[in-house]
Amino acid sequence: MQTLIDPFARAISYLRVSVTDRCDFRCAYCMTEHMTFLPKAELLTLEELDRLCTAFVHMGVEKLRITGGEPLVRKGIMTFFEAMSRHLASGALKELTLTTNGSQLRKYAADLAACGVKRINVSLDTLDDAKFAEITRWGRLSQVLDGIAAAKEAGLAVKINAVALKGFNEDELFRLTDWCAAENHDLTFIEVMPMGDMGEVGRLDQYWPLKDLRAQLASRFTLIDLPDRTGGPARYVRLAETGQRVGFITPLTHNFCESCNRVRLTCTGELYMCLGQEDMADLRAPLRASADDAQLEQAIRAAIARKPKGHDFDYSRQAVKGQMTRHMSHTGG
Ligand code: SAM
Ligand code: SF4
Repeated sequence: MQTLIDPFARAISYLRVSVTDRCDFRCAYCMTEHMTFLPKAELLTLEELDRLCTAFVHMGVEKLRITGGEPLVRKGIMTFFEAMSRHLASGALKELTLTTNGSQLRKYAADLAACGVKRINVSLDTLDDAKFAEITRWGRLSQVLDGIAAAKEAGLAVKINAVALKGFNEDELFRLTDWCAAENHDLTFIEVMPMGDMGEVGRLDQYWPLKDLRAQLASRFTLIDLPDRTGGPARYVRLAETGQRVGFITPLTHNFCESCNRVRLTCTGELYMCLGQEDMADLRAPLRASADDAQLEQAIRAAIARKPKGHDFDYSRQAVKGQMTRHMSHTGG
């Protein structure tokens, strides 16, 4: 079957799938404390998610990242991972992975490894108990650290993702870096993005540009630029002194769109061709319209043909432009 190529000649080989908008945390930059979640009836069933992902795999998607919300709080999620592992076994899929807050890893790490998951991303912004409780509102640091330990025991490589938050974890830059070096985790910093209306929390107050973070890191370590590219907004360096890899996801200070290879599917079957644009295609209707995949495949190709050149995020001139009304937990981070 013909692979997916967008109008800017980018091959779409990476699908990120949000399997739920729900979460057991309420991170301050991601959700409001009292979020209204989608009625369960609106969600695609796990069988429908399987059909959709399988269609993408048949059209050339080689990497599948499961996210949310918190993917591991979706009921029955392991049956979905098991189902997807058949595409690893066939060789069609090169990587099956997930992004998680880590709270359920003690329960699921071994099962994930058994499904062929090799590397996972765990979001962790602070190593301080009280600050962790503050930023996640509902989370407990000890549970996440235990989850990460379980992942290591199961043989999973863990990459830590930390959102860079001004006035919050600036003072933990070296603590996080040292801890990751000691635990052998890659570490990636993410610039906070204008996703969803957070009410009282001002975006510009939280914004800690990664060029500043990088300069601080360079005051203690020798940063060696790495050519590694994942088709996404991350750029990597190696710290000469520790040998560890550190990434920077800078959607706001860099334009990474020219090499974009990904699209995002929500738990209701909306396909977002760009994280930073409102345009989306509803795949649930063609999915449910017929048991064979012809309409669905046509809808996917029509959507990819509309993939925009890039996003419009811009914090310049002290105003948040390109603000997205939807939350990260909806589109999947
Ligand atoms: N619950 C899982 C987790 O936290 O890893 C997966 C979903 S979460 C939405 C995915 C990633 O998005 C997390 O690393 C989180 O820190 C990040 N994120 C959420 N809101 C963000 C925002 N406004 N700006 C930048 N990153 C954000
Ligand atoms: Fe949940 Fe992840 Fe959003 Fe935090 S960042 S509230 S863990 S979905």
